[in-house]
Amino acid sequence: MGDSIYANYPPPLTPAQKQYLVTTIKDWATQNGLLVRPAPTFVPKETDPSGVLATNAPVTLFPSPFPKSCFDEAKALQTVYNQLYAAITCNEEWVGKIMEDLIDVDDFISHLWKVHLSVKKEGYAQSLSLGLYRSDYMAHTPSTAEKASLKQVEFNTISSSFGGLSSLVTALHTDLLNSPPGNPIAYPSHPLFDSNVPPENTAVETLSAGLAAAHNAYGPSKATPSLPTCILFLVQENERNTFDQLALLRQLTKFHKIPVFRLLSSEILDHTSIPSSNPSRPLIYSPPHSPDSKFEVTTAYLRCFYAPTDYKSERDWEARTHLERSAAIKCPTVLNQLVGSKIVQQVLAETDGPDHLSSFLSGTDSNTIARVRETFAPQYDLSSSGRGREIALNLNTAMNHVLKPQREGGGNNIYKEAIPDFLRSIPESEWKRWILMELIKPPSEAKNVALRSDGEVLGGGVIGELGVYGTILWDQADGKTLHNEQGGWLMRTKAKDVNEGGVATGFSSLDSILLY
Ligand code: ADP
Ligand code: MG
Repeated sequence: MGDSIYANYPPPLTPAQKQYLVTTIKDWATQNGLLVRPAPTFVPKETDPSGVLATNAPVTLFPSPFPKSCFDEAKALQTVYNQLYAAITCNEEWVGKIMEDLIDVDDFISHLWKVHLSVKKEGYAQSLSLGLYRSDYMAHTPSTAEKASLKQVEFNTISSSFGGLSSLVTALHTDLLNSPPGNPIAYPSHPLFDSNVPPENTAVETLSAGLAAAHNAYGPSKATPSLPTCILFLVQENERNTFDQLALLRQLTKFHKIPVFRLLSSEILDHTSIPSSNPSRPLIYSPPHSPDSKFEVTTAYLRCFYAPTDYKSERDWEARTHLERSAAIKCPTVLNQLVGSKIVQQVLAETDGPDHLSSFLSGTDSNTIARVRETFAPQYDLSSSGRGREIALNLNTAMNHVLKPQREGGGNNIYKEAIPDFLRSIPESEWKRWILMELIKPPSEAKNVALRSDGEVLGGGVIGELGVYGTILWDQADGKTLHNEQGGWLMRTKAKDVNEGGVATGFSSLDSILLY
């Protein structure tokens, strides 16, 4: 089918059809909890002082076509990727060498590394480590004549979000394709719609099962007297993506029967404690709404602490250290968070020098390792001897690249023609904070229409980014894996002329896929 798929996709809508579809989606979103809290630019605090309002998450009106071969490959490689990032985290010496270079130029990385070292010095009270990961890709299609190949944009080891809402977008598009059975009335007809629905999306089940596996592996209470156990979600102030987190929370409480609480990262030190007399260092949580009841936290799931802005003062760093030294299983540990840095992905992708990928995946067959390697786009450091500098400083070659710092959460990269001037504007000593990556080229003809959270409807050329979720629980002491699963996915779609991605940052919309 190839590029012909995009030639007349999505099918054009008359104004009346568009209005019907948009209204149907808005109502579906509210009825089913496909929601976000509104941005203050849309609903100012004065309009909604008690914060009761929610609006639809940004969603595409249509699912986006995605090559089946790329989707299958991303799913097939996820447990290998899980294993890879656990293995890297187990090699603290290797990680330390990479961080060494960054520490004098990157305050944030340096601070995280110090937290790790201070807890290591005291001795970690918990050797189990939980990863809830999302590997992000694009279907690289440099020319319409070539078959698309799967290329990784980045690998996330902390706060991998949108599993909850992504499952709902899959359900929304499936309902629209199916209503009523065999005779879609929301969409005009299109060959791609014929007996085709998005693939199953088990993001909520998979991510919750990962958290439940950690909870169960924690074992009995370490407190005296013993306490009931719980999972604690640590969250950001002014979080707008609450309902995404609540989807996991509900699955854990209803299906796994595990008590779950959400706590602001700024309140960790107010409501949790580690009894100084107990060498096991259990993390005790007293819910503010029920100060007399106490729970022991088996698993601390971080939906915060990934960006420098999450650490407003020294107290926040204290809170992070407090969690890290506790017996709770961290998702993720500081070390595992650092392993998600862009520089690790760049080092893995290096084609000259030691074959780190094969070393970390030593138990894996060479064919599978080669398939993982195939997903890497060319990436370079900016050391004085490397090719990276040459490419980045030359406008012609910079045009085909993106410059990334060691940050998460979107809005941090420098793109294409802005790269040479940007580098020249900062001291050369700081260049090593950045890595240079070749741009992945998704199909150039892809189009879709998005309904934004403020009700605006925008159509045009788009770029899609597929994320695949995976969870792994391992013992950092001996490297043994206790749980390793993949399941669930996320499609995010942004306007073609926008460089940045990210739904929370307002660049992308949630989407689903139809395989071809
Ligand atoms: P972050 O941690 O901020 O999410 P990413 O590496 O995901 O960092 O980059 C942000 C966005 O920039 C991505 O969602 C994608 O849209 C775009 N991007 C990043 N790397 C590439 C690349 N190599 N090719 C094309 N687009 C990219
Ligand atoms: Mg990203």
